[in-house]
Amino acid sequence: MPRDLFQLIESNPFVIGDGAMGTMLQQMGLTSGGAPELWNVERPDIIRQIYQSYVDAGSQIIETNTFGGTRYRLKLHDLQDRVYELNKAGAALAREVAGEEVFVAGSMGPTGELLQPMGELTYEAAIEAFAEQASGLADGGVDFFLIETMSDLNEVKAAVEGCQQVSDLPIATTMTFDTNYHTMMGVSPAQAVQELAAMGVKIIGANCGNGPDEIRRVIREMLAVRPAGVYIYAQSNAGLPHYEHGHIHYDGTPDIMAELALELAGLGVDIIGACCGSTPDHIKAMREALLTQPIPEIKLELPPTPPPAPPASRRERRERRRGGRRRRTE
Ligand SMILES: [Zn+2]
Repeated sequence: MPRDLFQLIESNPFVIGDGAMGTMLQQMGLTSGGAPELWNVERPDIIRQIYQSYVDAGSQIIETNTFGGTRYRLKLHDLQDRVYELNKAGAALAREVAGEEVFVAGSMGPTGELLQPMGELTYEAAIEAFAEQASGLADGGVDFFLIETMSDLNEVKAAVEGCQQVSDLPIATTMTFDTNYHTMMGVSPAQAVQELAAMGVKIIGANCGNGPDEIRRVIREMLAVRPAGVYIYAQSNAGLPHYEHGHIHYDGTPDIMAELALELAGLGVDIIGACCGSTPDHIKAMREALLTQPIPEIKLELPPTPPPAPPASRRERRERRRGGRRRRTE
């Protein structure tokens, strides 16, 4: 029987996602300059083990280790000619671990390039790059595509078109609202829901960012404008990163994330997972709280609207997208 994502969502009060891949890879010894996707073929044992740790923690969806799997991101490691192979391998390992019960989300992150007219990348070239990645993911056996940590709506649209060119699997998209409750490119949560829903995307949400307090508010703004038939996906970072003795440490404990999970479920979020800094321990605590504690009844009340954030400076955007001071690996 084929796994039907929408049936999974509709037959559960909430679906439990997974936590970070990048954080786990770093714990397993991936260096900051290393290519995570290369481990899909060179260290399959470790990738399998990370997938398995999320299945064991109770994730109903696991994400593939392919966040940086477009040719533009892989080019940083001179792996741009291995897009199909590395994505397919990451997906196939996840499929193997997930079995019949757990769903596999094909993770697709930003290209790291700015689209025209802000940058050099044409819309058509972006579509082509995402289609190439999606084709490997689909052939590796993912159940749906998860386009995540996005800032630019045009890049999301290119990714959606790329997926649609090669597959009719469902598509979910989550953006990151880490610049005064907007994306780095100035998109508000409401605008993201409205524009993506208009494109026919049925699963929309927020991931990464500055931790629970930010996501609480972003998700409320999304829910306030959610059209019928659109589902909401939330994957917050486990708090804020701090540098300690040369290592990044996140301050969001499993208990803090469990409390957030209860609140998100009370608001009516459909898929609840976590992002950077989270581990299987966080997912376990979130699942336990969701299954054993009463889900609070929360009335949707919006905080006063902040003034729209001016987009970050060109230089800052470029630095961040290139992975300078805040390299994201999910
Ligand atoms: Zn993240």
